[in-house]
Amino acid sequence: MKLTTKILLGLVAGVIVGLLLGSAPEIATTYIKPIGGLFINLIKMIIVPLVLSSLIVGASSVGDIKTLGRIGGKTIAYYLLTTAFAVTIGLLLGNFFQAGVGLEVPMSAEVTAKEAPSLIETLLNIVPRNPIKGLVDGNMLQIITFALFLGIGATTLPDEKAKPFINFFDSLAEVMYKITSIIMEFAPYGVFGLITPVVATNGPSVLIPLIKVVAAVYIGCILHASIVYSSAVKLIAKISPIKFFKGILPAAVTAFSTSSSSGTLPVTIKSVKENIGVSDKVASFVLPLGATINMDGTALYQGVCALFVAQVYGIDLTMGQMATIVLTATLGSIGTAGVPGAGLIMLSIVLKSVGLPLEGIALIAGIDRVLDMARTSINVIGDASAATIVAATENELNISNQFNVVEE
Ligand code: ASP
Repeated sequence: MKLTTKILLGLVAGVIVGLLLGSAPEIATTYIKPIGGLFINLIKMIIVPLVLSSLIVGASSVGDIKTLGRIGGKTIAYYLLTTAFAVTIGLLLGNFFQAGVGLEVPMSAEVTAKEAPSLIETLLNIVPRNPIKGLVDGNMLQIITFALFLGIGATTLPDEKAKPFINFFDSLAEVMYKITSIIMEFAPYGVFGLITPVVATNGPSVLIPLIKVVAAVYIGCILHASIVYSSAVKLIAKISPIKFFKGILPAAVTAFSTSSSSGTLPVTIKSVKENIGVSDKVASFVLPLGATINMDGTALYQGVCALFVAQVYGIDLTMGQMATIVLTATLGSIGTAGVPGAGLIMLSIVLKSVGLPLEGIALIAGIDRVLDMARTSINVIGDASAATIVAATENELNISNQFNVVEE
């Protein structure tokens, strides 16, 4: 059986067992959740060395600063454009579903959102004062900055000085990819262990009052993928969207169950290189960047939730306020970490930007995990679509390489 099929089976089994354990969720959280925890720890173990090594190699293999600037420019332009589009879809669906109209507000709910950092703070923090601390803390934006500088520095040195340095990180990146393959053998069980407790504790009874919000986010995610990513890969990369989605499926399922795009990164890189044929050079540059700064699903969710909160409190948003939401959610998603629940914290920035009551966050918090699963999958598929189209426009897409690795 193919690994992808096994992972999907793990997901389905998790949903079924989760529903069965709905009356005794403690069994799922005590005995099944640790299996998921083990899987998450395994993939988290390789993220910092993987991002550091693959970005150093990615930046140095691009060759010169001009090409790096061109690839970087395309990547960031695509990330920002698609994210702005995603918030717009979120706002439209929020309007269409009118999820918050007539909803009783359980005001006793606690507001649990932490204070989100300001935009300026986020931007300044991109440059690490102590890169080793950034590595130890797993601060992705800082690691990316440091790795890019190391890669660029190495390209400007004469070959005999730069080679040993680059070769070392190249080997390190290869070793990390190998470890990813080993860990992925455990993925079907890990996915089962992650999904079961989520379904058991967020069963139908928790979801029903807010089912319209869940529907709006899920439908929005499906629309965004089928409109934006399908046309981008079809029109720009000239590959069939079905092939693309099939290729990225292992990463999408891992994102769905872990709710972490950073955590999924090793699987995203593996799927994009082996199943879609994106070159090492583009994948190792575009994907670590995307896992940290590109969050289309999160932005879409913020559009839906902002409208939901406005409707609950009977506030009519003007066109200007909606434009502010698009801008804030797009820029805010850059500073959102690729970890579970980060989007909920950033939602406070979006609500604040148009003066909506922050108490609204408490309404969403109860079902956030279920929304997080969908938005994280979209975040990851978005990164993969960027890698695919950047590779196509740079002549770095190896069609004959697609699905060249036969999964046993
Ligand atoms: N969990 C999301 C991710 O890792 C971020 C979010 O909470 O929206 O991509």
